[in-house]
Amino acid sequence: MAMMIVKDECTSCGDCQPVCPTGAVLKKKGTYIIDAEVCTECEGEFDEPQCVEACPVPNCIVEAA
Ligand code: SF4
Ligand code: SF4
Repeated sequence: MAMMIVKDECTSCGDCQPVCPTGAVLKKKGTYIIDAEVCTECEGEFDEPQCVEACPVPNCIVEAA
């Protein structure tokens, strides 16, 4: 399972990148994406996905379908 960034909601503030323990948040052409192959949903490391905790925009980072 992985989280994903809702492109239309993301302001590209970058706050989610440094808090990710797996390096799954990548900057791509000025916007941010989560590499689904790398994201662990922070399982085993934190109770909550750290990117979601850090993101100032509600419902911007959601569970990938
Ligand atoms: S859920 Fe955790 S591992 Fe996945 S992108 Fe967010 S901070 Fe990184
Ligand atoms: S913290 Fe939220 S708004 Fe900022 S870059 Fe990450 S996903 Fe986008």
